[in-house]
Amino acid sequence: MSDEHAQIITGSCLCGAVEFELTNAFRFFFFCYCEQCRRLSGTAHIANLSSETNSLLWKKGQEQIARFDMPGRNFTKAFCKTCASPVPYVSNETGRTIVPAGCLHGAPIVESATRIFVHEAPPWSQPEALSRLPGHKGYPPEF
Ligand SMILES: [Zn+2]
Ligand SMILES: [Zn+2]
Repeated sequence: MSDEHAQIITGSCLCGAVEFELTNAFRFFFFCYCEQCRRLSGTAHIANLSSETNSLLWKKGQEQIARFDMPGRNFTKAFCKTCASPVPYVSNETGRTIVPAGCLHGAPIVESATRIFVHEAPPWSQPEALSRLPGHKGYPPEF
């Protein structure tokens, strides 16, 4: 795919302080269930897109971003200082652009998607367990 035909995808944090755009062409889509990603996300897994090329363009709020790099390890979280939503960052270790999928406004175009470190997934996040739960369009009536 040549750049002149590349689609652009946009994203933002929850409060709207941070807005960005980049090329909608990602090499990997990782759902990582490892303990470190679980703690970084506060939920069962992260859902991060990865791109070999950095086409990231900050439209707004780059100075609003804080970043945590775990000493000695390849775990990073960049987030909006106001609302704490995760936002994209460039990995110090690999140079890849990492984009939390949940902050995008559209559907990412991905070459390869996979779940990793699945043996570390907590029991409450297993697909079989989740599929047994009732689903509601909003809060359940008894809430
Ligand atoms: Zn924000
Ligand atoms: Zn992980």
